[in-house]
This record gives sequence, structure tokens and C-alpha cells, in this order.
Amino acid sequence: MDAIETTCVYCGCGCGLYLHVENNKIIAVTPSLKPPARGRLCAKGWLLHGFANHPDRLREPLMRRGDRHVQTSWSEALSFIARSFDEIKRDSGPDALAVLTSAKATNEENYLLMKLCRAALGTNNIDNVARLCHAPTLFALGSSLGSGSMTNPIASLLHSDVIMIIGSNTTEQHPAVALHIMEARRNGARIVAVDPRRTKMAKIADLHLQLRPGTDIALLNAILSIVIREGMIDEEFIRSRTEGFVDILDHIAEYTPEVAERICGVPAGLIHDAAVMYGGAEAAAIVYAMGITQHAHGTDNVQAIVNLALATGNLGRDGSGIYPLRGHQNVQGACDMGALPDYYTGYQKISEFREKFEGAWDVELPASQGMTAVEIMSSAGSEIRGMYISGENPALSYPDSSRIRKSLESLDLLVVSEIFPTETTRMADVVLPIASFAEKYGTVTSTERKVQLIRKAIDPPGNALPEWVVAARLLEIFGISSGYDTSADVMREIAALTPSYGGISHERLERGGIHWPCPTQEHHGTPVLYRDGFPRGRAVFRHVDQRGMEDERFTLIIGRSQYHFHTGSMTRRVCILEREVPEAFVDMNPRDAAALGIRNGTGLILESESGTIRARARLSDDVREGMLFMPFHFRESPANMLTEWQLDRFSKIPALKMVSVSIRREDA
Ligand code: SF4
Repeated sequence: MDAIETTCVYCGCGCGLYLHVENNKIIAVTPSLKPPARGRLCAKGWLLHGFANHPDRLREPLMRRGDRHVQTSWSEALSFIARSFDEIKRDSGPDALAVLTSAKATNEENYLLMKLCRAALGTNNIDNVARLCHAPTLFALGSSLGSGSMTNPIASLLHSDVIMIIGSNTTEQHPAVALHIMEARRNGARIVAVDPRRTKMAKIADLHLQLRPGTDIALLNAILSIVIREGMIDEEFIRSRTEGFVDILDHIAEYTPEVAERICGVPAGLIHDAAVMYGGAEAAAIVYAMGITQHAHGTDNVQAIVNLALATGNLGRDGSGIYPLRGHQNVQGACDMGALPDYYTGYQKISEFREKFEGAWDVELPASQGMTAVEIMSSAGSEIRGMYISGENPALSYPDSSRIRKSLESLDLLVVSEIFPTETTRMADVVLPIASFAEKYGTVTSTERKVQLIRKAIDPPGNALPEWVVAARLLEIFGISSGYDTSADVMREIAALTPSYGGISHERLERGGIHWPCPTQEHHGTPVLYRDGFPRGRAVFRHVDQRGMEDERFTLIIGRSQYHFHTGSMTRRVCILEREVPEAFVDMNPRDAAALGIRNGTGLILESESGTIRARARLSDDVREGMLFMPFHFRESPANMLTEWQLDRFSKIPALKMVSVSIRREDA
């Protein structure tokens, strides 16, 4: 049996693993001993082969004929796509077109789709799923520190004295990170969990601050206020490496523990204890995920974290740092590759680097900033007439998803590349069957900025192709010379145009992953950022205020289950994972349930301004009174249908994390 070393396709931890193959079939998966897996995988990782071998895989290109899809050839499908995009461009201009790339696709695939969008279609209307998860991270960390990414590698947590986990159900969503946190705890690190739910991390934490949903800024500001008042700031770090500290002092002082208690519902004494624990640590880390970012004030939430880390000098050292945990395998890489409306690769602004890319690609490029993913979706069918969606399922994952479906249906051309039929492929005019991670070569970049290889273990089913091949063929049809024989050729072009990837090549990655920035072939990569300073000179404090809380009915928090991934198109086809959690559930505090006559398993109707769905109640002390929790993986109970088009003013992330809902019993 062959054992092919590759990288897990699910979450952003980037665990290395081996696919064991017999007769072009993956028989088993075993973990790599290298970090971050270090001989361990979560349930999804161990069962990776369950979806790659699944009979539902898309095998042939499909085109819409009336109300059904019929099989076609690649040449016919790609010629039709190019012709149709050209027609839309002629009639409505290039900005009537848009591309959404995939955080499950490789760096090379994201790069070529970005090139296709800008150089061939002539628009900067390109974005990726990061807009729905970590756009606030990109904005706040980027503008304050200089890079919108994780500051330290996952293994650096083993050197932390205190780890604050805020808005992250780490055990279920980033198990490899959770294992490092537990190991750090066994070695003496203390854990502060800040979460409205009593997550598994909250249960083992030294302190659990069970705040009201959406009150993170008040809590973080109060912690910073105590740290300042008790003299636990790093004055030398603030003086020599930051700016704006003095400007925030007056505002921060208003956030006393008592004020924060009234807003957050967390006892003032507990807030004080957390501040002393974090502020008194030699090396303290803050780990966060979408409980922080998916809000209409997501960027301000991240900035409040930055302010705390800067004030205590917890950056640029082992064990310290800020850890935004990315949800998809390659969401970091999709952003690095310029699948964003305002940046080329490596966060080179289109306003400053257009001439460089025009010279390299020998084509005139659009100058105006493009639309974000949410703007693209809200303009679908009006300003946007044609769209290419790579490997994503917005019909289920986007806010107010019933509105999204209507928008997609009214496009002149919808092209969707996928490995399985989904709610979105069903609406497509052309469906392109794509090779999965196990069927192609390429690179992905994990949440810790580590660029790693994925390697081909088996052949794709039917006539499915790697997406970099599809994008390269489309570039050729549009008359943009490509000349890529392998995905390694694509990486050579990326490295030539992207300073932070300048020293990265497939040949080097054969020996192991590399953390960017890695500017030259001789450079060994940069696991810890900001050891010697910040790229923008000084890091910036920016004061942020807690916005008023609405008088809510029930606050529904939307999240994930450890056994499923995103819209479930892969994990719901793995029978063991589906057996563990076969349907959606609504976690509800037993006291709320008793007041409404609801029992475990009672069918509920949940209603918001945007829609109505049904799911069964699951009584749990892990949620506060007045709060509900529900995962969004299930098409039968599409939780994101309840969310609204409320956008963060800086990063344009939609507020997917929570929504106010009313509930009633189905039988009432
Ligand atoms: Fe895959 Fe993430 Fe699980 Fe690691 S922790 S095996 S990367 S899903």
C-alpha cells in the first residue's frame, strides 16, 4: 500500500497526514509526526477518505438545458463560459462580472483565478470566503501591526504562561490548536475562557467569563483598564514600539469592572481576576475565532484584542502573540494570493502595484477597487450579470440565504466548480467537476502562515480536473499566455511577484512547510512575526467603544459542530460523522425551556426578520438564559437564513454570528 504525505483539507490548522492508497482508492489515513499534527488527528481528519471516494462526486462538466443539467465536454463548457463572459462584458462592462474563489482550493488555483478575473475578465470584483470569517482580522491586524495574520506558530502556545481564548470553540473547531492548549495547561499554563457558552475549553479553564453575546469590547476594554490601573503595562514596549497609547487612556478609564459587569453580565471580581492573570504573565497569548469576527463590529472587536496585547508587550516573543484561527484549510492562502477586491498577491495594493502586475502579465489591468463578496452577492442579478464561483456554497452559507438564492437565479451566467452537487451547483448554468485535494499537487497556507504541499494520491473521478488546469485553459482562451505545465510553474510565478513568498518553491516544500514571510531561497521563513519591529514602523493603538445592546428576544449564536465542516457537502457524506450529528439542534437553557414547555427533542420554529426555520431543541446548561446555539451545516435547517445584511463598516463582514429570534413549539 502506498503512503502519500499530504495536508488535511478541512480546518486551517494544516495537520500533515498520510493517505494510504490501494488500487487508486484511499483505504486509510494516518497522522504525520510533524507539527502541528504531531501524531494526532481529529475525527474529521481520520475519516478524510470517506468523502474523496464517495460515489456522489461530480465526474463530467454539466450545462443547463431547460430545467436540467446535461453532460458536456470540457472544450464545449469552457468555450461557452468564455463566450458568455465576453458577451456580458460587451453589453454591461467588465464590472458586471465577478469571481469568488475557494478557501478549499490551492494557492496556485486561487492565484490563477485571480489572474483570470483581473487580466482576462477585466474586473477587480474578486473575493473569497475570508470575507465571511476573518475580514476584520485582515483589517484590524493589518492596519495596526502591519500583517493581518497569526503572529506566532501554533507550537508557540507551548511556551505561554497564560492563554486567553475568546470567541473560539477551539476543541471542536480547531482541534490541533486545542491539543496544544491542553498540553500547555498540563505544563502549568493558566487558561482564561471568554465565551457565552460553556464550551469544553471553558470547562477546563481556570476562569470562565460567560459574557452576554456581543459584549466583547466592554469586557476587553475593562481588562485593559485594570491592567493599566494596576501598573501591569509594558512601558518600554509602548514607548519604543507603538503609537496612540496616550489617546486611548481617557476613554479606557470609563470601562471600570462595574460598568463592564452591567454590560456583559460577568461579575466585576472575575473580570479583575482575568486582567491580573493576563497582565501578570511573562508570556500571554490570545486565541480567537469567529465569535469575535462575525459581527457588525468585528473589526473593533479585533482591535480591542490588539490594544490589550500591545499594552502588555505580548507580541514578537515565543509564547505571546495573537492567534486568529482560520476556519478553512486555505483561507489564509486565498487572501495571500490576492483573491481580494483591493489587493494583488502578498497584500500588494492595487492602487500602488498595478503597473508591476501589468508588466508581468503584459495586459492592462482595472484600476478601481472591486466589490466584496457580500456586495457581489447583493448585486447579483442587477449590476452583476455573470459569476464564477469556485468550490463554495453561498446558497447555504451566506446571510439571509433565501435572498441569495433569488439573486443567483437571476444571473445571466452562473458557473460553479465543485467536487459534489450542492445547493449552489443546482442553480448553475455550467457545473465544472474539480479534482479534490487528494487528486492534485499544489500548496496551501495554514492559519499559522505555513505554506505546505498537498500531493496527488489518486486519480480524479471521471473527467474531473484540478482547478489550476481549468483556470489556465480559460486564460489561454482569453488570449493571456500561460505556459504552465505543472502547478510548480504557477508557484514560480507567484514567488517572482510576491515578496513574502519569494523564497517558496515546491522543491523546497518537499523538505517541509515554510512560514511566510520567506523572501529569498536562502531564507528559512518567519515563524514568529515582529521580533525586530513592525513593518509599518510603530504598531497603533485605536480606541474602540462597545456599541449599544438591543433589547433582544432570544439571541441565537450560530456556529459549528466538531463532526461537520461548513455546509456539510463533504462531512455529511461520511457515514460515521453523519451518524454522530445527523441533524441540526438548538441548544437552549433548561430554565428557558421549562418556561415555554419545551423538552429535549421538541420541534421548534425559529423566526427572525429574514426567515423562518425549524430544528429540534437540545437542553443544555452550557448556554446562558436568553441565549440559543445552533450549527449552520444542515440544509434542512439552514441557520444562516435567519441572519441579516448587517455589515462591519471597515471589513464588510456580515454579522453571521448572532441574530435576534423568536421561538415557538412546532406543535403549538
Ligand atoms: Fe484536519 Fe483540522 Fe482536524 Fe487537523 S484539526 S485533522 S487540520 S480538521
